[in-house]
Amino acid sequence: MFKLAIVLALACFAHGLPTQESEPRNVAIITRAQWGARAPNSRTTLATPVPEVIIHHTVTGACTTQDSCASQMRSMQNQHMNSNGWADIGYNFCVGGNGQVFEGRGWTTQGAHAPAVNNRSIGICLIGTFTSVNPPAAQLSATQNLISMGMSNGRIQRAHWLRGHRQVTATACPGDALFNTIRSWPNFRA
Ligand SMILES: [Zn+2]
Repeated sequence: MFKLAIVLALACFAHGLPTQESEPRNVAIITRAQWGARAPNSRTTLATPVPEVIIHHTVTGACTTQDSCASQMRSMQNQHMNSNGWADIGYNFCVGGNGQVFEGRGWTTQGAHAPAVNNRSIGICLIGTFTSVNPPAAQLSATQNLISMGMSNGRIQRAHWLRGHRQVTATACPGDALFNTIRSWPNFRA
């Protein structure tokens, strides 16, 4: 009985802890270990909270399972490190077609996804090609939840600018369909 009382007291204490936001959206993130990432060759610390979020597509096929998305993460990392000569996969995070979020360089390491703003942004890629078709709803909502999480955990400024890659680099990324979609999202900056 005494043990039970302690457990209940601890549970109440944990429940009563203050939260940074009314209710931070906690997104389950598939870690680098879980998708089988290689170690990065180097890391540059990203100063946070960042003032920008940059949205990308990968111009690959879509993926809809953890295994197939993990496989795409490994392929991208190999390409970025072996062919592009980058330190690691370029993006801070990627989101699969099933709504799973995969850790790239994460919240605190500078990415290699949009040269003009790498040192002031979180780069999020949506796995797939979204030129003429939009990502599935789960992929879009997971992306928005990830951004909310970043604001809650102090990695993204609340007044950040959300932009598509094409707005900072001469590229079609993130595809016409996805770009048109993010134009209606909070914090989109024309
Ligand atoms: Zn891009």
